Amino acid sequence: MSLLTEKELAAKLASLPRLRFLHLPTPLAFLANWSQYLGGPKIYIKRDDLSGVGFGGNKSRKLEFIIADAVQNNYQAIFTWGSVQSNWCFQTALAARRFGLKPALLLFIQDKKLPAARGNLLLDYLLDAKIYFHPAPPGKVVSRELALNLIKGLVPELEAQGLRPYVVSVGGSMPLGSMSLPLGAISYVQAFYETWIQAKAAGYSFTHVVHATGSGATQAGLLVGAKLLNPECQIIGISVSEERGLFAQEVWKIARATTAALDLALDIKPEEIIVFDEYLEGGYGVISKKVARTLRLLLQQEGIVLDPVYAAKAMLGLIDLINQGYFKPNDSVVFFHTGGTPALFAYGQKILNRLKK
Ligand SMILES: *Cc1c(COP(=O)(O)O)cnc(C)c1O
Repeated sequence: MSLLTEKELAAKLASLPRLRFLHLPTPLAFLANWSQYLGGPKIYIKRDDLSGVGFGGNKSRKLEFIIADAVQNNYQAIFTWGSVQSNWCFQTALAARRFGLKPALLLFIQDKKLPAARGNLLLDYLLDAKIYFHPAPPGKVVSRELALNLIKGLVPELEAQGLRPYVVSVGGSMPLGSMSLPLGAISYVQAFYETWIQAKAAGYSFTHVVHATGSGATQAGLLVGAKLLNPECQIIGISVSEERGLFAQEVWKIARATTAALDLALDIKPEEIIVFDEYLEGGYGVISKKVARTLRLLLQQEGIVLDPVYAAKAMLGLIDLINQGYFKPNDSVVFFHTGGTPALFAYGQKILNRLKK
């Protein structure tokens, strides 16, 4: 049973406001060396790190819809939060500037001293984003409530300059603040569609998608896309920060909001969400020897740069799942490269240290 034809889905996605500033479609390529080396299923890579603007990344895809929503509703600034090396914050600041909005960022810092201007933070400075640093609660992830409350206290400062900010949650994922629809996830329904069309045109199909999951919208969107176009396809999220149960719940909530927003008669159950939390490697932003080695190996074999916080952990997960026999020999896996390249340069010394014997 098909819920929507391909054309109907395309029309639905096309009806949403969107500012097209990326170079899409991003490449979908077969990894010959890597597939042979791992000796499992065929492995393809979807290069969302090559979306053409500011080092690419999955957040830029989301921002085509999110910035359009902000512009259409007459906001003059955009306010969001994340960690110091947040890919989301940099890509938001970049897209905001590109369309004449003032970027404001609340960045959570781990220690008392001001972080070095490297990686994404360097780019935030170059974009002249208004940056507020705040200490992160020790040992815990920053809750949405805390971040939103802090932002609420800072908004008057922008408003005093005549700038009404569009407030959007970390990762552009959960619909709250000024964003009423799950626009981040919707952009990944579109990304699945884009990938599916590319594969079809090249004469193949795929049975699995593997990617790093963080705030959940990428996985939620890919899942909805798969359920519409290729229901047998499994979407496998490799968690980089949270345990499986919590994540599956987040992804499920966003997926439900997505089916509601697109008015789809799809019933997604929490059990259908596949998340692995075995590859946290010590937690968010912690770089283990295995992560550093994965990153080095793919670079040497395929010339593809992974970041150590997200994509390298997802790739580590894919390698391990292959070694465990999770896939059948005839399966085809699309690994979504979700970007994050600038962060690599903030972790340089740590990576080299892990690679010492
Ligand atoms: C944010 C991010 C992810 C996770 O995407 P979510 O939609 O937040 O789950 C994965 N990879 C990179 C490089 C990211 O920056």
